[in-house]
Amino acid sequence: MSERRPLTEDEISYFKDLLLKRKKELWREVIETLEREGAEEYQDLIRTVKEEEDLALADIKEETLLGILEPKIRELEEIDQAILRIELGEYGRCIDCGKWLRIKRLEIMPWAARCRECQEKWEKLKALE
Ligand SMILES: [Zn+2]
Repeated sequence: MSERRPLTEDEISYFKDLLLKRKKELWREVIETLEREGAEEYQDLIRTVKEEEDLALADIKEETLLGILEPKIRELEEIDQAILRIELGEYGRCIDCGKWLRIKRLEIMPWAARCRECQEKWEKLKALE
């Protein structure tokens, strides 16, 4: 059993590092996908993505062009939210029940926003929609 407790500063900076690395990686994959799809109409978008990552997230969503990008974009949003929670001092706490997540869970999914129990409930609810 891995423990539930607030994270230390070292742990937070470790996870922040992981999140930022993963974010970079995902953006590279998004750009690669756009370039591979190659259509003329994406050229402006590719340029925007390269210049201004955060703004481009909204642009890409609006385009809703590539189903293949959707999981990556969702992950990017989860990462951005996790980084925001770090800034707010709420990182590692379940956004539904407020309990601390197990460190092990964060090691597997540094962007996890909910504890496992709440995540399962949430997914069931979402499946019903
Ligand atoms: Zn919870």
